[in-house]
Amino acid sequence: MARYTGSVCRLCRREGMKLYLKGERCYTEKCSVDRRPYAPGEHGQGRKKMSEYAIQLREKQKLRRIYGVFERQCERYFEMASRKRGVTGEALLQILESRLDNVVYRLGFASSRAEARQMVRHGHIAVNGNKVSIPSYLVEPGDTVSVREGSRELPRFKQVAEAGQGRTVPAWLSLHPDGLSATVLSLPTRDQIDVPVQEHMVVELYSR
Ligand code: SF4
Repeated sequence: MARYTGSVCRLCRREGMKLYLKGERCYTEKCSVDRRPYAPGEHGQGRKKMSEYAIQLREKQKLRRIYGVFERQCERYFEMASRKRGVTGEALLQILESRLDNVVYRLGFASSRAEARQMVRHGHIAVNGNKVSIPSYLVEPGDTVSVREGSRELPRFKQVAEAGQGRTVPAWLSLHPDGLSATVLSLPTRDQIDVPVQEHMVVELYSR
């Protein structure tokens, strides 16, 4: 599958805010948004007036970049969300939040969604005891997400286990005492999802 191989910091600068795509580096003074707080490219520092469409487009791109999903996948999630009852924007965010790579990130197993995606792809993660190596796998309430037995001795996961009890995870997830497994209690509500996106604009864009 194709994937974006360019600079991820450039994506943050394009959106004009920190999207926290690089894990620990995002919290240091090396962050590109702090060092160069303007859009990348020749006209990055120019003044621009944005049309409504442009604002909607930026919100959608921001959403895609935060969760690391491609356009077609995002469109599919929108179709799924629009078939659900309730507010489509919230349903869209719930679907994105229930992706396995996002859950691994939210549990603090990884410092970024990109790292979480790699952990899943490399077969370190299980859902209900069965290995799942598909980052886009959607978890459901009642599922148990864990680091597989064979991977728990790896330095990265030892470190995660040591930090286990001190970690704060979102209220819709329940971290087990071992620090390397958790239960999905429910799907998150909008106020439990801390992404800086105006999802109704994404819905308006896809509904055009
Ligand atoms: Fe974005 Fe993190 Fe890069 Fe800063 S360091 S620009 S927050 S990816």
